[in-house]
Amino acid sequence: MPENRPFPENTRAIAAGPGPSMADGPASAYIHVPFCVRKCAYCDFLSFADERSHARIEAYVDAVCREITLTPKWFPAEEPGRRAGVEGRAERPLETIYFGGGTPSLLSPTQVGKILTALRDTFGIKDSCEITLEANPGTVNEEKLSAFREAGINRLSIGIQSLDDNVLQTLGRIHDAGSAMRAVEDARLAGFQNISCDMMLGIPGQTMDSVKKTLEFFLGKEIPHISLYSLILEEGTPLYARLGGDIEKYVTQEQDREMYHYVTSHLAGKGYVHYEISNMAVPGYESRHNSMYWRAEPYFAFGAGAHYYLGNERGRHAETLDEYIGALHEENAKKEDVLITEEILSPEDRMKEYMMLGFRTRAGVGEEAFRERFGMTVESAFGAEIEKEMNSGLVGFEDGIYRLTEKGFDLANQVFMDYV
Ligand code: SF4
Repeated sequence: MPENRPFPENTRAIAAGPGPSMADGPASAYIHVPFCVRKCAYCDFLSFADERSHARIEAYVDAVCREITLTPKWFPAEEPGRRAGVEGRAERPLETIYFGGGTPSLLSPTQVGKILTALRDTFGIKDSCEITLEANPGTVNEEKLSAFREAGINRLSIGIQSLDDNVLQTLGRIHDAGSAMRAVEDARLAGFQNISCDMMLGIPGQTMDSVKKTLEFFLGKEIPHISLYSLILEEGTPLYARLGGDIEKYVTQEQDREMYHYVTSHLAGKGYVHYEISNMAVPGYESRHNSMYWRAEPYFAFGAGAHYYLGNERGRHAETLDEYIGALHEENAKKEDVLITEEILSPEDRMKEYMMLGFRTRAGVGEEAFRERFGMTVESAFGAEIEKEMNSGLVGFEDGIYRLTEKGFDLANQVFMDYV
């Protein structure tokens, strides 16, 4: 959890407000690109690094395009809360699109353009749409990044993690500090303004000096958005085996927090807003796509293993390339062969989720927004929880908005537990 600090008064509250009603249908799309050059030592995300899988990238892109095209048919306008379009065209053009992975920068700009064309033809894309691509240093250069820009990408999220070669080796990343710095410089040369860099903390062997060096580079390059993550040791990964499953032996909770507090306070001093627990941005550069998640809005997702949320239904996609590409080989592929419903959310589930997501952000949970969405007040739904959190000094209430206090932001998990 991050450091807890009062949010500046003059910054835009990006996550407040009710957002669109569920009946409006999704205005966001996530595309999962499950390919990587090599698996990182700590990674348990769905991604394939073998040659046979890589040989199927073009077929995968075609499958994603077909899934996009079939979506209005799979979710006809008559179904409340799941409206994709009428006569194959959405009433709401997309406002955010996110290529995540895996390593989306392994796709060619032509393949990215093909997917964007399918999205445009099916749903429409707003001129102001934020279109993010996750890029891995070591897979891009200025020429490729320029071509991504021409294809329509207008925001890059670069997985730097650290500029310390020892740390990068521990993580098993394919890049070193030099290629990470070059990727940022190339992104600038390619004309990208809207750049986010990932930074990982709490890594065995990582020192405060290396954290400071990485941060200074980001600031020197005026990177407007930084995502902060602590290393999580996932069972079954090579790093888990190497460290004997016990990260505390190598990095204590206190050391991890110390790094976190240094980074967040340093960035805050430079005008970055800690707008979400793991994210800091220069005002105006907050991730619009991720903010959509934190407002619990519905979104389309496409691609193997991708998770979707359509208002009252949550689910995932077939996870193997054989299943996903195989099912979408047919022109009239069946929804049931591609999508697996995981959960039909009750109104109570949705309210809890809305609270938990809202509390992740500095915008908090607006009383009015909650009432508009759920037809009841926060008080009547969660009076006992809110009273307890306020008595413990974890949650405050001001100008119609409940949000975590300084203490609450640092102990956010305690609050989240009330809404599980
Ligand atoms: S680049 Fe990302 S998705 Fe790919 S293996 Fe590394 S951590 Fe996993």
